[in-house]
Amino acid sequence: MAKFIFVTGGVTSSLGKGIIAASLAKLLQSRGLKVTIQKFDPYINVDPGTLNPYEHGECFVTDDGAETDLDLGHYERFLNIPTSQANNVTTGRIYQTVINKEREGAYLGKTVQVVPHITDEIKRRMMLLGNSGNFDIIITELGGTVGDIESLPFVEAVRQIQWELPEEDCLVVHLTLIPYLSAAKELKTKPTQHSVRLLSQEGVHPNVIVCRTEHPLNQELRKKIALFCNVKPDAVIEAMDASTIYEVPLKMLEEKLDIIVLKKLHINGYAAPELSKWNSFLNKLKHPKAKIKIGLIGKYVELQDAYKSILEAFVHAGAINQCKVQIVNIHSEHLAPENIDSKLEGLNGMLVAPGFGARGIEGKIAAVKYARENHIPFFGICLGMQMAVIEFARNVLGWSDAHSTEMNSNTSHPVIALMEEQKKIKNKGGTMRLGAYPCTLENGSLAHQIYESETISERHRHRWEFNNNFINDFISAGLIPSGINKEKNLVEIVELKNHPFFIGVQFHPELKSTVENPHPIFVHFLRAAMENAEKTATTVKDNSKKQTA
Ligand code: GLN
Repeated sequence: MAKFIFVTGGVTSSLGKGIIAASLAKLLQSRGLKVTIQKFDPYINVDPGTLNPYEHGECFVTDDGAETDLDLGHYERFLNIPTSQANNVTTGRIYQTVINKEREGAYLGKTVQVVPHITDEIKRRMMLLGNSGNFDIIITELGGTVGDIESLPFVEAVRQIQWELPEEDCLVVHLTLIPYLSAAKELKTKPTQHSVRLLSQEGVHPNVIVCRTEHPLNQELRKKIALFCNVKPDAVIEAMDASTIYEVPLKMLEEKLDIIVLKKLHINGYAAPELSKWNSFLNKLKHPKAKIKIGLIGKYVELQDAYKSILEAFVHAGAINQCKVQIVNIHSEHLAPENIDSKLEGLNGMLVAPGFGARGIEGKIAAVKYARENHIPFFGICLGMQMAVIEFARNVLGWSDAHSTEMNSNTSHPVIALMEEQKKIKNKGGTMRLGAYPCTLENGSLAHQIYESETISERHRHRWEFNNNFINDFISAGLIPSGINKEKNLVEIVELKNHPFFIGVQFHPELKSTVENPHPIFVHFLRAAMENAEKTATTVKDNSKKQTA
């Protein structure tokens, strides 16, 4: 039987519950326990797939095709194990299940109510992974902030689980903020006291208080928080701002968060933490030997969370190459053939990001052209790959109106077209090509060199694809389809001959990059960018020598 840890948040949103949950999970895993993390979100969308990145940041996709909250990306990156459909549940999903059951007649004769029907369904889903026998500990992160109307049924479900389970099988960690008032030069505990009181009024008493703070908590303050929040002083954990999220597990280890949790859950005989891989990653991350500039060309660049997994994949790949990756955000809407040189000059590599819709498309195409012609390492993901195909069609094959039918349904060269099975689909939610699909790599291709394998599996989230009607023209002109999904005959990877590094992928490799397994395309792309940086440095040196001579 698994044990359950619930992580709630108080005072304000954006405190980093996901990172704290993932860090605790990492520490427990490092001591030999089998741990997974799940997130329960209080909004009414059935999943975040229909939300735009400005609302919700990136939509993370699991192997089994769930469109999920971006925190699941953190869980995978920290724990190095995949999550699934069961790891992310929303209010919408809960209500959908209960209402469907009501229509089937499962509650015949009864009034269907929040308590017990909605709370029962929440509890069933909260326990689901615990019943699988695969895990010792299930950590459940509750989205939202304590006191929100919409999170009430989730808190009530936690209360009931706490009441039903033996005391040592369940605990609640409450993450809160200790603000610093610079005028008074003081850390303030009152908001924390209030949020714990609010949680208690809803029937849940937290066992551990994790305090986000910009300044260290002294003993006196810890005692005060402990007294007012009714926990022992060792259950007050300081969570200071860290220079990287990957340092948080070590900070939590110092604070003994894992020990407190293990004690409360009566887990004995745990091993010493095995974090050698983690530490070696951090060490490399902190001591880079080279520095490069990568342009991230997208239309949501002002919002860091929109490209979360891509940014983290660069951190993983940068560390393994001992290279500091400076990401230069370039808004695709602001790019035009007239300003392209000045905007893209000095980059050692360019990544054209995924996306939907027409906004910023011409800027992305102009960026691909610049990378192709100037031999700058290029990496296109999903929409980025589609833009590479369109650019090649327009500027190499000479089909000036070539486009994707997503943006122009009347083009005479629809080089990117809707997948056959997508044509009949009307509903928007959960209907893309989602999740992991196999792909076969062409022997001797760049992709084959990168993956060192003939078949791979990568995660997808798209409706459009490379149009095979034009494949022979592309091949003759030098754009190579180097990865194919054999079952459906879909082009998943394209690359260019006679270019130092040019690859476009229809899938999302960033979703599978973890601290312990940086994604090979990111790793090789950065190597190509490092070579570009070295070459540029030598050319600059040679030129200045010539000038002085
Ligand atoms: N809009 C494109 C499609 O649906 C690309 C999607 C993406 O970049 N994730 O095919």
